[in-house]
Amino acid sequence: ATPTSIMVGTGKAAELGVLFRNGAALEGLQGVKVVAVDKTGTLTKGRPELTDLVTTAGFDRTQVLSLVAAAEGQSEHPIALAIVDAAKREGLMIPVPEHFEAVPGFGLEARVAGHLVQVGADRYMTRLGLDTAAFTAQAHGLGDEGKSPLYAAIDGQLAAIIAVADPIKEGSLEAVSALHRQGLKVAMITGDNQRTAHAIARQLGIDEVLAEVLPSGKSDAVKALQAQGHKVAFVGDGINDAPALAQADVGLAIGTGTDVAVETADVILMSGDLRGVPNAYALSRATLRNIR
Ligand code: ADP
Ligand code: MG
Repeated sequence: ATPTSIMVGTGKAAELGVLFRNGAALEGLQGVKVVAVDKTGTLTKGRPELTDLVTTAGFDRTQVLSLVAAAEGQSEHPIALAIVDAAKREGLMIPVPEHFEAVPGFGLEARVAGHLVQVGADRYMTRLGLDTAAFTAQAHGLGDEGKSPLYAAIDGQLAAIIAVADPIKEGSLEAVSALHRQGLKVAMITGDNQRTAHAIARQLGIDEVLAEVLPSGKSDAVKALQAQGHKVAFVGDGINDAPALAQADVGLAIGTGTDVAVETADVILMSGDLRGVPNAYALSRATLRNIR
């Protein structure tokens, strides 16, 4: 490609809210066969809401929600906001914890009003030596509805199953269809559990799901897709997406995402949703066709 045509191409793209960091990114996108997409905040709004909270015998719903909200009040995870909002809406007292610790990819631990409060994924409870079998049927049902089941343990005892639902973002379905028409395969990479991830993928027509991926494992997930022999683009928005954006053949960041993601990406999508990806792909194709 000639420098001039690349300049014209990138200029046109910028008008449409697609910022290519350089000509190599514009050209690189044409070689891509698989688009891997982060779920939370990219395919979904990243603003989940609390939908369910069921306690085990001997635990009071209000007390559990109050303790869990106190612990989550210290977390920056989108799930935390959902839980704190629900507790506030119910007018509950939210004490300030004496101690708090995030456990990335698993959940969190806090000491609240003298109680040990641990909240997180199924695998976190397993790590704590707690059996979630009592909630298996419920967890499966919630997951199949696209909700994310979580668990709360109070003083080392399983106290509740909690579910949050993160609505699908405007444009996600349309973007996946457009990418399919362009001959691309779409994969999802997420830390969320298998059932939830597959339920969301089904709703969007996504071809492949890599779920229960730890924050540190997202770039390995991209590597695994590359090992299938194709060039892979990765689309993400978060701090923990930076290594995957760097590992991908082309990294695309949602412009409304974190600074780290935007700094690491080859392409920035100002539109703030996934439709920027088929737009970027079409632009790169048109530009390169003009030159050849
Ligand atoms: P993602 O947000 O993409 O699903 P994370 O690695 O941030 O990936 O989290 C993985 C899982 O760990 C979440 O889906 C959730 O089950 C659990 N988790 C993480 N942080 C929290 C939190 N603050 N409260 C409850 N659960 C959490
Ligand atoms: Mg995200």
